[in-house]
Amino acid sequence: MKLGRRILLLLTLAAASFAFLSMTFARYTTAVSGGDTALVARWNFSARGEDDPAGTFYTKGFTFDLFSAKSVSPMDSGHKSFTFTGGGSDTAIAYDVRMKASDLLLLTRGTVAGTENADIYAPFIFRITVSVSDGACDAPPVVFTPPGALGNGWFRPEDIAAAEDGFFSIFDKTAGAPGFSAASADQVTVTVFWQWNTSCYIGDTGAASVAPDVSAGAPGDYPPYYQAAYDAYYGPGGLEERRVAAANAVTDYLSAHGGGPSPDGTWQHEISCPLTPAQHDAALAALSPEGKENYLLAHNGTDDGTGSIAWGAHTVPCPHDHYAEYNALVAVENAATADCRTSLLRAYDDYDTLAADALGAKESVKVIFHITGVQLAPG
Ligand SMILES: [Zn+2]
Ligand SMILES: [Zn+2]
Repeated sequence: MKLGRRILLLLTLAAASFAFLSMTFARYTTAVSGGDTALVARWNFSARGEDDPAGTFYTKGFTFDLFSAKSVSPMDSGHKSFTFTGGGSDTAIAYDVRMKASDLLLLTRGTVAGTENADIYAPFIFRITVSVSDGACDAPPVVFTPPGALGNGWFRPEDIAAAEDGFFSIFDKTAGAPGFSAASADQVTVTVFWQWNTSCYIGDTGAASVAPDVSAGAPGDYPPYYQAAYDAYYGPGGLEERRVAAANAVTDYLSAHGGGPSPDGTWQHEISCPLTPAQHDAALAALSPEGKENYLLAHNGTDDGTGSIAWGAHTVPCPHDHYAEYNALVAVENAATADCRTSLLRAYDDYDTLAADALGAKESVKVIFHITGVQLAPG
């Protein structure tokens, strides 16, 4: 059995993630004394992505490529941020940021470490943080507390109750919608952290039981959850070592015991007699005269005429119970092979391969962030 040590398939995930900025266009008007002229209030609600030119804010859309347009492979991780501002608009603004990750939900079903028909999701987890510019005049928004038990603010999109259009707000609005006061030039920066982390999904397959581990590990290393499974498989005393040892024990037994049964089903072979001359002498002495004659023949003993026996080289039938011993060794090998097949490492590799194939077959996979600013009538 051979296991892929690392999923080599690069996921050609069309990872462009688009972000949209929208606002209400129902601009309020205000009566100016002496006439009916409608004035349009100054409206500067705008946003920029981390990769947009510094200081440039956009009022319609901006660049936000969560995955940096690169192919994503299992166990990758990263983060990206975007910033929005009221820009000193004339009115107060209530804002919201909504996320949609419905492309990352249930992808397919497949066999994971021998468990058939397991649900396969895109195994991404996310964490969102928010900061405000120095000297901000408005209270910072409160990021929602994700459901689920991953800890540290990490969440799986499948655990979030989204609206019918697939979006959910990233803010906790129990104390009211977050907003900018009139003339506020505060900037709010949202940072989205992401990980391909199968430890947060594997438990749902029934193929493995492991606590989700959101720690990412050092750059260039496997994340800790995968390293642990890798070590249990390939490390000293691990599953692979035990499987190879068990397979070698079967091979070694065959070569030590005549290569296996004869075509007639018997399994017999000769071995060099293990007895020392002294042991031969003792065995001979205990026998009857007739027994002595047979023993001398069987053990190549010759009377040299001086009363002692010379024991020449000779063989005897191997006394082992070959079938029983061989079958016991094969059973150990089969068990070791089954342990590999149902290992946690195999479960991760199967899951990642199924998810990567399913994602790669999609034309595009988008995670969308939608920022809205709604002007509040002057109070
Ligand atoms: Zn034997
Ligand atoms: Zn002998």
